[in-house]
Amino acid sequence: MKKSIKDINVKNKKVLLRVDFNVPLDAEGNILNDNRIMESLATINYLIDNEAKLIICSHLGRPDGKIDKKYSLAPVANRLASLVKTKVYFANDTVGKDAIKKANALQPGEILVLENLRFTKKEENNDPEFCKKLASLADIYVNDAFGTCHRQHASVYGVAKLLPNAVGLLVNKELKVMNQILSEPKRPFVAILGGAKVKDKISVIENLIKKVDCLLIGGGMAYTFIKAMGGSVGDSIVDEQHISLAKKLIGSAQKYNVELVLPVDIVAAKEFDNNSPKKVFDANKIEDGYQGLDIGKKTIKLFKKKIKKAKTIVWNGPVGVYEFSNFKNGTEQIAKAVSKSKGFTFIGGGDSAAAVINLGYSKKVNHLSTGGGASLMLLEGKTLPGIDVISNKRKTNG
Ligand code: AMP
Repeated sequence: MKKSIKDINVKNKKVLLRVDFNVPLDAEGNILNDNRIMESLATINYLIDNEAKLIICSHLGRPDGKIDKKYSLAPVANRLASLVKTKVYFANDTVGKDAIKKANALQPGEILVLENLRFTKKEENNDPEFCKKLASLADIYVNDAFGTCHRQHASVYGVAKLLPNAVGLLVNKELKVMNQILSEPKRPFVAILGGAKVKDKISVIENLIKKVDCLLIGGGMAYTFIKAMGGSVGDSIVDEQHISLAKKLIGSAQKYNVELVLPVDIVAAKEFDNNSPKKVFDANKIEDGYQGLDIGKKTIKLFKKKIKKAKTIVWNGPVGVYEFSNFKNGTEQIAKAVSKSKGFTFIGGGDSAAAVINLGYSKKVNHLSTGGGASLMLLEGKTLPGIDVISNKRKTNG
């Protein structure tokens, strides 16, 4: 167990808090939604209520290591000021004179937001001097940016090594949920994997196959498996390099007594185009010239049956090209079925989370992860660099 902010004394201490304030902006720089700020509030409020002098840092967008005011965190600091009951200051640099002066002037319970960490390449390069300067602003480091915990960046990794540290409440919740799912899931445990590339999900399948009761595979990655089983997939996307591995995984499923369920019918089109006329095929008999872009009705029914019985569900990746209105039905139906489940439902970040949010089902799932890449890495059975560097909680006897 990692140390959390509840295990440390923060009163009168300068706390450097890494959050994920990477909010979506429109062309004028207005905040499109403040979900990420809201997700950080529990930790921020806890720290100010406990009289920490709070220094908040984050990245925003991809300024590519250069100062680009389009990606300034100033509007985010303003939004934060409207959500908390304390003073929020803003430093127009990250480790420069303004940040140092304002950090030293902070009173207990007040907040300073630093300018975008990625205005210098030193952040992503985990530059040792930059880490030292960041660390020198504070007495304690807290990581609550789950979405960046898989990165070895200065504000996530290097700085944590230089200060007493802990995780925030959001990271703590993400880790707890994942640990619960992977170590003692309620059964049946069903995983739904989709998305385009098999390559990206191999390690996830390899790890989950030892843990789940049933694995539903949809989306573009399904065709590599269907081809591995001898099916004809027409012009659907196939990862030729990984066909033998798909065969091996099918063998592993048998070995671990896992039900591996592939699509039985699919909705295809001649072009990768929303307006290309649709034609339905048995999934293993797709005509040449057609490519599968969504799962068909029989598959939806089959997947729904498995989802309904599940007591734990993990979903990562759309089961079709859900960006095309004519091929989003499968993904929407899966989102609906998952949100109706009475079991524990976990949705990885990225496209599947977007599908659930767009349909207005986000409140109906138990856990919508705030980190796509980070949650995938945990599903692969790996640990996250940004978490590894945080001190463990001392074990108490009894
Ligand atoms: P990933 O990043 O691997 O999770 O893939 C997400 C992408 O997979 C989305 O942009 C989907 O449009 C795409 N996708 C899902 N199903 C298919 C398919 N049958 N053919 C091509 N792309 C697909």
